[in-house]
Amino acid sequence: MNVLILGGTTEASAIAAALVGHPVIRPVLSLAGRTRAPVLPPIPCRVGGFGGVAGLAAYLDAHRIAALIDATHPFAAQITRHAAAAAGSIPRITVLRPPWTAQPGDDWTMVPDMPAAAAAIGSEPRGVFLTVGQQELAPFRHAPHHRYVVRSVEPPDPSVLPGATIVTARGPFAEADDLRLMQAQRIEVLVTKNSGGAATAGKLAAAQALGVRVVMVARPPVPDGPTVPDAAAALAWLDHVAATWKRGV
Ligand code: NAP
Repeated sequence: MNVLILGGTTEASAIAAALVGHPVIRPVLSLAGRTRAPVLPPIPCRVGGFGGVAGLAAYLDAHRIAALIDATHPFAAQITRHAAAAAGSIPRITVLRPPWTAQPGDDWTMVPDMPAAAAAIGSEPRGVFLTVGQQELAPFRHAPHHRYVVRSVEPPDPSVLPGATIVTARGPFAEADDLRLMQAQRIEVLVTKNSGGAATAGKLAAAQALGVRVVMVARPPVPDGPTVPDAAAALAWLDHVAATWKRGV
């Protein structure tokens, strides 16, 4: 049974790793190609966009995909919309890790999008830790009075946020390391998407420990359809689909 996993997340990698050598399921992991040297699991992988909904639908058809696992990032809204639109009658599941929630002692400002995040930092100049991804920096140009420290997997185009300090690193990130980094960089405000998950949650605990305010960008909406919170639940769903598929063969 051919299965397409839309990836770019730890959950997708975990699902792929669990399916290595599976007797029935033939998985393919799809990555957008944003990261120059991605860590690939030992299953067939493809890299690059499909060409919109029509391109994805054509791929599903041409490769006789019998189940679609959308394990993309909670903020990868376009590919998730495309997956929902292209799947048709193919069983599809969306892996959606639970969002982070503010804990007692946290100082969070919730905002709907990145321009609102830039505005929410405020009119006083601040030391700001931006962990929003290198594609999302442009709105912060409109708040040039702040001192920015940007952390991203790939270095951003320096012209997007001139003067920013760039830290290139790939998670997971330990709380103690984030605490040290935020202290050393005299961070007063942390801006983050509400990605959820453990791999990058250390910065939130570090922010609380240091009394750093958090500007939290809310998630985009998810199309209708079944969701699971993690890789294990996606694999259980896939077992069920595979059992039905085998009966139909
Ligand atoms: P997006 O805005 O939802 O998608 C933009 C386009 O990129 C899609 O229309 C599709 O192109 C292509 N694409 C996205 N994910 C793909 C995949 N897994 N396989 C093949 N094509 C894909 O996506 P994004 O926010 O740029 O995210 C890109 C990738 O980075 C995803 O794999 C995502 O899981 C990962 N990621 C995103 C974030 C984030 O904050 N957005 C964080 C960590 C990881 P076509 O229309 O041509 O098919």
